[in-house]
Amino acid sequence: MFSQWDVQLVWVYSFLMLLTRYFLIAGAAYWCIYFIFNKRLSVKKIQQRFAPNNKIINEIIASVFSFFIFAAFMTLIVYLQELGLTKIYTDFSQHSWWYAVLSFVALLFIHDTYFYWMHRLMHLPVLFKHIHLHHHKSVTPTPWTAFSFHPVEAILEFAFIIPVVFILPLHPVVLMIFAFAMTAMNVLGHIGYELFPKNFLQQPLGKIFNTTTHHDMHHHYNKCNYGLYFNFWDLIMRTNHKKYQKTFEQKASKTISKQTTTMQQLQQH
Ligand SMILES: [Zn+2]
Ligand SMILES: [Zn+2]
Repeated sequence: MFSQWDVQLVWVYSFLMLLTRYFLIAGAAYWCIYFIFNKRLSVKKIQQRFAPNNKIINEIIASVFSFFIFAAFMTLIVYLQELGLTKIYTDFSQHSWWYAVLSFVALLFIHDTYFYWMHRLMHLPVLFKHIHLHHHKSVTPTPWTAFSFHPVEAILEFAFIIPVVFILPLHPVVLMIFAFAMTAMNVLGHIGYELFPKNFLQQPLGKIFNTTTHHDMHHHYNKCNYGLYFNFWDLIMRTNHKKYQKTFEQKASKTISKQTTTMQQLQQH
């Protein structure tokens, strides 16, 4: 049976895992894009302004607080699993490989749908003012913005997984891959630079997945582009910003060249 000591240990382990994942993924993106390749990629910057350092520090602090809450949810899931109340299965042979892949895809779809509607609710004036505004204080997002939430929003962001583990059989590896994909996609939406190829929106994948420009425009304009992974709900509900495609193509069509880098270096001197 789960002792109080076990609960604390699971919470600490979960918190450290969340922290490591955030600093590895957001940190790698920030370091590469904002320091190593910043000059070469400058033509790909979606907004011309940069987030001030104090805002970035606030985003990191808020994200760490979000992880306190996420870790509590993860501990609750482990506890429910110990009680035999969830559908999580640890014996991989219990279901096929195909089932594991399908359950991952199903998880993405469930989360995407939950996120879209929860996000739209968050934009109701009263909820926006008291809860979601915290995330939107980052008008110019950076990779560190990904988990910068008001504590109530942090609870709502993670809460969807609780009913899911009661209904959908999931292997812990699938849950871990999902958590990694969710973090990577969240960071990608906030990197502030458009790195997808210029014809991406004309390709099948571009019609399915959202781009960095999509979520960047959400931070810039607020009442548009609510989706997370996929563009389905924004398409169905007609909430894509009318200039989304044009803005994407403007940024994505800019070519990175050595000449651009040299010209920028000359301008800076
Ligand atoms: Zn929003
Ligand atoms: Zn955001």
